[in-house]
Amino acid sequence: MFPQQPIWSNTRVDLLQRCPRAFVLRYGVAQLSQNHPKGQALSEIFQIQTPWVLLHQTIRETVLEYVEDYANGTIWSTGLLSTKFKHGFTQLIRKRNQLIKRIMETGLMSQPGFQCTQVEAHLVEMGTKLCIGLIDHPEFVRILEVGTIKRLEPTDSIHQQNVRIYNAPDIMHFNNDQQFLIKIHPFQQRSKTELELQASLLQLYGDEKTTIVFFHLNRRVWSCRKIVPNPTQKNQAMGIVDKDIKHMMNAFFSVGKHNDLSKVPLADSYRSCMHCNVRSLCPTRDGYERAKAEQRALMCQKGTSVVEYI
Ligand code: SF4
Repeated sequence: MFPQQPIWSNTRVDLLQRCPRAFVLRYGVAQLSQNHPKGQALSEIFQIQTPWVLLHQTIRETVLEYVEDYANGTIWSTGLLSTKFKHGFTQLIRKRNQLIKRIMETGLMSQPGFQCTQVEAHLVEMGTKLCIGLIDHPEFVRILEVGTIKRLEPTDSIHQQNVRIYNAPDIMHFNNDQQFLIKIHPFQQRSKTELELQASLLQLYGDEKTTIVFFHLNRRVWSCRKIVPNPTQKNQAMGIVDKDIKHMMNAFFSVGKHNDLSKVPLADSYRSCMHCNVRSLCPTRDGYERAKAEQRALMCQKGTSVVEYI
């Protein structure tokens, strides 16, 4: 079940830490059975995001579009930015609703964990204000005004110590001989240690002199932090990647050769299940404590096959 080449990304690590069962379903079962309609639907379930997450994705995407146009000599008015934001957010909400309807039609989700929703005006207003806040940030303005800019995609990866790492910066900025890698974190403020780890992995896309520039939201106000990782931090970061990959392998190996999911641990905390995309497919749907107790009992019995499970 383990992919031919180990893959590390923040999304994978976050999911593994929240729940090994959900991790195996998303990156093992769903990928193995992607040619089966139910396997495809399982992949799609994980693509459903909350409107709140889509709002933050739209902020990032709108700002990056603004940057691209700015670099080509087109500067948006506030009205255009607001229109672009609303359009982008509406598209994401529409796609989300279509995805939910399609998955419901497959019968894979018997109890809708997600409801279709509408674009709410106050979210559009908030998102537009946050975009303006970032593009007006003095450090962001300076980046736009001097040097050259290149946008990167999340699919841009790096191969390091036999691991494929997905941690691309959003923008590369060159000014004279200096290189800056810019990452926009609209979701939450990251701790100092997390930022240093991220900076060390981001620097793999540049060289040892490259400065990493983070823009992150703190109580709806943008902050900027610059880091040039030192060799110790970079070694520590690769050590953490190595440990994460071992945990991923353990999760995949716990499935066993008969595709038995019963030994793949459920989440350690009920909190993880509250917003889980596959809760309606998981034994915890009938009660978290009961499912954990049943899992302990099932460890000694023949488990369910992957095909039966989906
Ligand atoms: S519902 Fe809970 S235990 Fe089940 S896959 Fe989701 S997070 Fe894991």
